[in-house]
Amino acid sequence: MSLAAIDIKFVPGVGPKRAEMLAKELNIHTAEDMLLHYPYKYVDRSRFYYLHEISQDMPHIQVKGQIVAFNKIGEGRQQRLSAIFTDGKSNIELVWFQGIRFILDKYKTGINYIVFGKPSFFNGKYNIVHPEIDLPSQLPPPEQMGLQPFYNTSERMKTGYLNSKAIQKIIQGLMPKVKELVTETLPAYILQEFKLMNLSDSLMNIHFPKNTQALNKARQRLKFEELFYIQLNILQQTKWREQNIAGFVMPKVGQHFNNFYHKALPFSLTNAQKRVVKEIHTDISNGKHMNRLLQGDVGSGKTIVALMALLIAVDNGFQGCLMAPTEILANQHYDSIATLLKNSGVQVALLTGSTKAKDREPLHAALRSGELHLLIGTHALIEDTVQFQNLGMVIIDEQHRFGVEQRAKLWKKNVKPPHILVMTATPIPRTLAMTLYGDLSVSVIDELPPGRKPVQTYHYYENKRNALNGFLHRQIKAGRQVYIVYPLIEESEKMDLQNATEGYEYFRESFPEFKVSLVHGRLKAAEKDHQMQLFVKGETNIMVATTVIEVGVNVPNASVMVIENAERFGLSQLHQLRGRVGRGAEQSFCILLTGYKLATDTRKRLDIMTRSNDGFEIAEADLQLRGPGDLEGTQQSGLPFELKLANLARDGKMLEIARNFAMEVLEKDPQLENPDNAILQRQLKKLKTHTHNWGQIS
Ligand code: ADP
Ligand code: MG
Repeated sequence: MSLAAIDIKFVPGVGPKRAEMLAKELNIHTAEDMLLHYPYKYVDRSRFYYLHEISQDMPHIQVKGQIVAFNKIGEGRQQRLSAIFTDGKSNIELVWFQGIRFILDKYKTGINYIVFGKPSFFNGKYNIVHPEIDLPSQLPPPEQMGLQPFYNTSERMKTGYLNSKAIQKIIQGLMPKVKELVTETLPAYILQEFKLMNLSDSLMNIHFPKNTQALNKARQRLKFEELFYIQLNILQQTKWREQNIAGFVMPKVGQHFNNFYHKALPFSLTNAQKRVVKEIHTDISNGKHMNRLLQGDVGSGKTIVALMALLIAVDNGFQGCLMAPTEILANQHYDSIATLLKNSGVQVALLTGSTKAKDREPLHAALRSGELHLLIGTHALIEDTVQFQNLGMVIIDEQHRFGVEQRAKLWKKNVKPPHILVMTATPIPRTLAMTLYGDLSVSVIDELPPGRKPVQTYHYYENKRNALNGFLHRQIKAGRQVYIVYPLIEESEKMDLQNATEGYEYFRESFPEFKVSLVHGRLKAAEKDHQMQLFVKGETNIMVATTVIEVGVNVPNASVMVIENAERFGLSQLHQLRGRVGRGAEQSFCILLTGYKLATDTRKRLDIMTRSNDGFEIAEADLQLRGPGDLEGTQQSGLPFELKLANLARDGKMLEIARNFAMEVLEKDPQLENPDNAILQRQLKKLKTHTHNWGQIS
C-alpha cells in the first residue's frame, strides 16, 4: 500500500464532492498528490503581540484580549460590523463585511479571545478585517502552535469552503500515515553525502514545521531532490543521444562558403561571430549530432552566422532550412539572404502561409529533387507535404516562439536527424539554460558589430506627449524613421486593434506632413508585408504597430521607438522591442510612455530599461522580478517540468551542486544498475510517466 494508491476521495475529510474539486482545481487525485501540495507560506503564531507593537509591514498579528462593543454601521448591502477590541492597554477595530449575523451570535463582549489577522491602516488607524477569533482553550499554547501553514486555493474552492484551513485539516489527517507509508526516494548514500533530512520527516516538517530550522532542513531536502532528478534525467538523455544518434558529417568548407566569405560578405565578422562559426563547424564535422543554442543579443548578427552554417551544409551536399516565427521576419530573411547569394549558384526559396498553391508544387518538386538548396519560411516548413531530398541543417530563429513538438517534427525530415541550430535573442540566464537545455550546447555572441551607439532610453509620462511630438518631428525632419508600438491586449483582440488604429489616426492627424504605416496582427499577410515594405524603403516615416514587429525586423534607418503603455510589457519584451532601433549609424532613442499609476515592479522594470542595454543583465533582472515560470522565452512552452519548491533564480548554487553530483553518479554507474541506485532508477521512471513533457526536452 502506498499513498499514491489511495484515492483522494477516501481520505478523511474529503469525500466525492471535494475530491472532484481538488482534481479540477489543483490536479490532486491521490493522497500522495495532496501531500505534495506544499504550503506557499507560514505564519508565525508562536507569540502574542501587544496592539501598540503593530506596524504596517507586519503580515499578521496575534493578540489576546476582549471585545468591548459591537457596532453595526450602514444599511443593506453596504452594512458592515465593527467591534472594538482591547488588549488591556490599547484598542483596535475589527471589521466584517459578511456573515454579520453569524459573528454576533458566536462572539460575545467581555470574554477572552485570541485574535489573529492582517492589520491594515485605514483612516489614520489600524484595523483587522475578517480576523480569526478563537477561545484560548480552543488553541494549543503558542509555543506549540509554531508555524502555521497556508495553502493555495482557487476562488472556486473558497466558495466551496475548501480554504487553506480546510486543506490544512485534510493534510493533518494524513500525517499519521506518512511515517507508515512513505518510502524514501533518495539513496542512503546521497542523504549522507549532503546531510539531508529523510523523506517522511521532510514531508511532515514542510507541512507542520517543528521550528524554523526543521522547516529549512525539510525544504532543502525536497528542493535538492527536485533539482537532482531533473539533472539526472537530462544527463541520461544527453548520454543516450551521444551514443545513439549519429549526425551527418560535414567536414568540408567549400566553394559556396568561401565565395561568400571572401566576396559577398559586406562587412568583416566580429570575433564572436567567427568563434561561433568555428564552434558550429567543429560540431558538424566529426559525426556528432549538433543540437546547439545560439544566444546573441538583438542586433548581434545571428542571421549571418546562420547563413554561413547553411552554406557549409550546401558545400557538403546537403540542403538547409531556416524557420522564423512570423511572415514578416521570414520575408525579411529571404530578401536579405537572396540578395547576399545573388549569382552564387545557391538556390533559395521562400515558403510561408501565403505562398500560393500554384507556386508550391514546383517548389516541392525542386526540394525533392535537390535542385533547391535552401528553404526559408515560417512554420509552413514543418508541414508533411514539405519533403527534402537530403536535409542536413535546420536553423530555428527566435526559438522560444516554437513549441517542442514543432521542433521535433523538423527532426524527422530526413533518415537521420539534421543538425539543429536554434537562435534566440532572449538571453536565458545560465542556471535556467542549464536546466531547460541541459543537453544543448550553447554558443554566445557577446559582442555587437562595431560602431553601434547604445540606444538612449527614457521614461515619459503621458503628459509629456506634446514635447515628445516635437522631438519626433525634429527626428523625422532630420531623415530618421520612427516606430510607435502598442501592446497586444490579450483579453481583447478588438481593443488591441482599436488601440493601434486609433494611434494610427492620431499620428496621421498630428503629423500631416509625414507618411504613416500601420501593421497589426489582423492584417492579411500581403497587406502587412506591403506596409512593412513601404517603411523599409523609407516611403513612410512612421510605423504604427502592435508587437508583431517585436522579433527580428531590421530597418537600420529607424532610430526612434516610442512604446505606448510601456507598463503593459514584460522586461524581456521591452528589450526585444528596443532592439529594433540602434541598428544604424545614428544615435537611437527609445521612449517608454506610461500613465501615472505604476506598481512597484513596473517601476523597477522601467528603471532597468532606462539604465541598461545589456540583454543578460535584463534577463537576470526579469528572472528575479517574475520568476522563471513567467520568463519570456519559456512562457509559451512553460518549463517542461514543475518545480514546487526550487526557484531557478534563487537556487542556482544548489542546481549546480545537484548537477555535478548527478554527473558523478552517472559516471560511476551509467545504467544505474548498482543496487544502491535502484531507487534512482525507479524514481526516474515514475517521474517520466507522471510528469508532462519530461521525456522530450530538446
Ligand atoms: P540579430 O542577431 O538580432 O538577428 P541581425 O542578424 O539581424 O541581428 O543583424 C543586425 C544587423 O547587423 C544586420 O543589418 C546585419 O547585416 C548587421 N551585421 C551583422 N554582423 C555584422 C558585422 N560583423 N558588422 C557589421 N554589421 C553586421
Ligand atoms: Mg534576428
